[in-house]
Amino acid sequence: MSTSNGNGAARTPRVAIIGAGMSGIGMACKLRMAGIESFHIYEKWNGLGGTWHANTYPGLHCDVPSRNYQYRFAPNPNWSHVFSPGREIWAYLDKVATDFDLKGRMSFNTEVAEATWDEDRHVWTLTTKAGDVSEWDFIVTACGGLVETRTPHIPGMEDFQGALFHSAEWDHRVPLKGKRVACIGTGSTGMQITKGLADVAGEFELYQRTPQWILPLPNRRYSRLTKWAMRTFPEQLEPLFFRGHQLATEGTFGVAVVQPGWQRTMLSWMCRKHLQWGVKDPDLRRRLTPTDQPMCKRLVMGTGFYKLFRRPNVNLVDTGIDHIEARGIVTKDGVLHEQDVIVMATGFNAHAFVRPMELTGLNGVKLSDAWGEREPYGYRSVAVPGFPNVFMLIGPHSPFGNQSLFTISETQADFAMGCIQRWRDRELEWMTPTAEATERFNEEMKAALPNTIWTTGCKSWYIGKDGLPSVWPWKASHHREILRQPDPADWVIARPGEREEERTPEPVA
Ligand code: NAP
Repeated sequence: MSTSNGNGAARTPRVAIIGAGMSGIGMACKLRMAGIESFHIYEKWNGLGGTWHANTYPGLHCDVPSRNYQYRFAPNPNWSHVFSPGREIWAYLDKVATDFDLKGRMSFNTEVAEATWDEDRHVWTLTTKAGDVSEWDFIVTACGGLVETRTPHIPGMEDFQGALFHSAEWDHRVPLKGKRVACIGTGSTGMQITKGLADVAGEFELYQRTPQWILPLPNRRYSRLTKWAMRTFPEQLEPLFFRGHQLATEGTFGVAVVQPGWQRTMLSWMCRKHLQWGVKDPDLRRRLTPTDQPMCKRLVMGTGFYKLFRRPNVNLVDTGIDHIEARGIVTKDGVLHEQDVIVMATGFNAHAFVRPMELTGLNGVKLSDAWGEREPYGYRSVAVPGFPNVFMLIGPHSPFGNQSLFTISETQADFAMGCIQRWRDRELEWMTPTAEATERFNEEMKAALPNTIWTTGCKSWYIGKDGLPSVWPWKASHHREILRQPDPADWVIARPGEREEERTPEPVA
């Protein structure tokens, strides 16, 4: 891409950010740091924080180390734990939004319904569900990956007389102390809820359809001395901790999931030994033993889970659920398990991405049509061909899994910032990846998939409707490398004042 700036004075980009979660807040901070004030954040929920706003279940914490689960530009010296509780992460996001004076730029309870590209004026017209209309030069989607809750319909569930809710829609009015609580689902959420409620509930039953491997990662409290040192020497210590955790995380999980090798062998061994040493009762151990390989499903991490089953009030139920009735859950063996509360820790539709918001791009093509026939796809996780000046944070193919979404979305936000700054300097009018480059990228992804652990035969939310995992199949460092700057050959770049026929390469569609 040209670096010349001979087309006149800098102009002011107007940027609409959709979503006030971790990635939207990060993007807004980066705009502020670049001196760009003309942005607004639209948020459909009634507060900021995204997943940390929605998820408030007992036991909630993050199993990615806090020193990496924060913005590089806003380190928090006061994290209480190596893996911090959810409320603390929400408070951190709230503080960053306050420190960067973002709250006045956020509209809550404001869902964006659609945005349409004006091919003559090169602007996006955005319409909220309430009917408000505004114009923007750029749209940054920061809508999150695990937002749309997935609540399976179990026959009779509407007859249940107690409280029943999804883990991400926790009803805090419902008393739990001494109550009979059932949790359906044994993913990361189900495991954390079990730990959070074992002490509280009178009887707690965990309903397991598929056993999960658990990596034993102890959660250490940071000492007062460490916090003091982080406050006193942030410039020396924060990069050190960040790099240390990054090397540990990306160098082990990050590699183990994408290629066979010692990392995969070591982590698998740790999961197997954790189960073997943690569960003495052979029958219970057999019931808790997965048939798939560790990490094929998103790895559950933590310690102290297995020993909970030694408590008299905690039970594993692995007989299938037949139906729910007024008093509780009836399992396939005909036994009625009476309950006061049923929690559906049954996960999310991880393939909704930007939708249901509708984007209409070049030649009137709608995003729902572009993605309709196939799994949501994009170019290098940041853009979709035919949708000029739209950048996605945590879009399709992002390196999900056990990586830090802060690091991933910062990489994507930096990429978007580079393009926005070039627009500001009049080096481009709009840009969108070519269809050819996007297809090539998707083919490269498919070619890399057989090396990954996700194709070894398990059912997980990574798998799309084409039956293939739609996750970044390379190391996280590759994500940073190929998003350092746009590869000009892969983009349609319209320059200010340029006629359409002068444009190279060929426009999409
Ligand atoms: P999940 O991993 O998708 O697990 C859903 C669970 O519900 C599975 O055990 C699934 O069983 C079970 N289930 C679904 N439908 C069922 C049915 N009809 N009957 C019985 N069981 C059913 O969801 P999640 O635990 O909410 O986690 C989703 C993702 O959120 C995680 O993978 C992770 O990326 C993220 N998360 C992160 C953290 C963190 O600390 N960073 C914490 C929580 C969540 P099957 O396995 O048989 O399908």
